[in-house]
Amino acid sequence: MIVDPNWRLWLSWLAVLLVLSSLGWGGLARGLSFLLLLFVLTPALVTLGLRWWLRRQLVAASCPVCGFAFQGVLRTQTQCPRCGERLQVTPKGFVRLTPPGIVDVEAVEIPESQN
Ligand SMILES: [Zn+2]
Repeated sequence: MIVDPNWRLWLSWLAVLLVLSSLGWGGLARGLSFLLLLFVLTPALVTLGLRWWLRRQLVAASCPVCGFAFQGVLRTQTQCPRCGERLQVTPKGFVRLTPPGIVDVEAVEIPESQN
């Protein structure tokens, strides 16, 4: 369970609302409680929506080349952090961009020594 560290603030708000409603200022109390709900509910709903969207977009799988397990964003291209293989992220996992049997090699030119 997550305990809000600002619980004293929320208790003070609640006390203010109770006092206002007991004084007969029900309209003001309703307005303040509406604002309070707006400020509490909006970030909570945005956070929940973002988590739901991220859970749908993230794919956890292992690299088809080296077997390293990591996560990627759905329908994007990524690179394996261990072997550097370029991969396409699909709903079923990672797929190599280069066809099987082909070794993707990066050539590095080594300058002649000046000895
Ligand atoms: Zn890999």
